[in-house]
Amino acid sequence: MRVRIHRGTHEIGGNCVEVEAADSRIVLDVGRPLDALRDEVVPLPDVAGLRAPDPSLLGLVISHGHQDHWGLIDQVSRNVPVYIGDATHRILKEAAFFSSGVTLDPAGFLRHRESFALGPFTITPFLNDHSAFDTYSVLIEADGRRLFYSADLQAHGRKSGIFEELLRKPPTGVDVLLLEGTNLRQEGDPKSGKTEQEIEKDLIHTFKTTSGIVLAMYSAQNIDRLVTMFRACVQSGRHLVLDLYAASIAAATGNPNIPKAGFDNLLVYVPLRQRIQVKESLEFDRVSGIKAVRIFPEELAARAQDLVLSFRTSMMVEIESAECLSGACAPSGPCGPAISNSQARNGCSASSSGTAFLS
Ligand SMILES: [Zn+2]
Repeated sequence: MRVRIHRGTHEIGGNCVEVEAADSRIVLDVGRPLDALRDEVVPLPDVAGLRAPDPSLLGLVISHGHQDHWGLIDQVSRNVPVYIGDATHRILKEAAFFSSGVTLDPAGFLRHRESFALGPFTITPFLNDHSAFDTYSVLIEADGRRLFYSADLQAHGRKSGIFEELLRKPPTGVDVLLLEGTNLRQEGDPKSGKTEQEIEKDLIHTFKTTSGIVLAMYSAQNIDRLVTMFRACVQSGRHLVLDLYAASIAAATGNPNIPKAGFDNLLVYVPLRQRIQVKESLEFDRVSGIKAVRIFPEELAARAQDLVLSFRTSMMVEIESAECLSGACAPSGPCGPAISNSQARNGCSASSSGTAFLS
């Protein structure tokens, strides 16, 4: 077995790894570098068969739904068989309607610890704890050798149990480990990021001590953070208001335990930009499907103290027009200080930093 890392060794993300055995090849991820500008055209790595037909390329495995692992796939020939998580496939399809995503026709789906063969390769996915839902490491076996490609993983998310399982029952006999390592700290290090459980506690405090609406900024595709937000809302007696994009992604997980339209304490708001997207696409089912739990701009002021609104800066003008910001709070990040009402008016940012605890 031979391995060539095309991208991702001296940068975070942008991953692309080519694996060869018995004159056949597979590719792990075709990520878009994180430092690429929005409209920058990033060429595909020089891998035979990604763009033009080459029968020795047997498939492309996408580890998860972050762009730095799949973002160049629109340049890959449709003839290349793609293997990806089922939920990731659905999430990327939903995301393609609202922002950046992709509609694929996968040749197969990755499933936790279920091996499948691809020519001389045996591929075994391992579900990961990561901020992207449905993320996998993969064990590649061929030529009597074993390569374990971790992709992105963490230990402090909502699925920390799956990380513990990986430690308890790791793949055995691994010859080469390709391990993502962007943020490794010892457990207990005060500089380490907070766990989702710790963030949940902080949010409950913020939600209980804020007199007005809370504007919450986080990625719609960070399902761990959605769960954390929702749990904090329930425990502080507030309703979580998702925008239509976030509500659609939550539904696309296909997981009955993930908060979504139909859950108590959960409402859906359709920002102007998304109303236009629905109108132009004529996909009115997207709105009629959440009709029973929809909240309108004119309701925000009266219910402000009852709401945590999933917020994007593109919504600022309409939220200000709704005159619902008296006593509002926009936490600058789950661990950081809150932004005041006046600061929120000037636009605000939030981060969802992640740190892996590896001991
Ligand atoms: Zn990732």
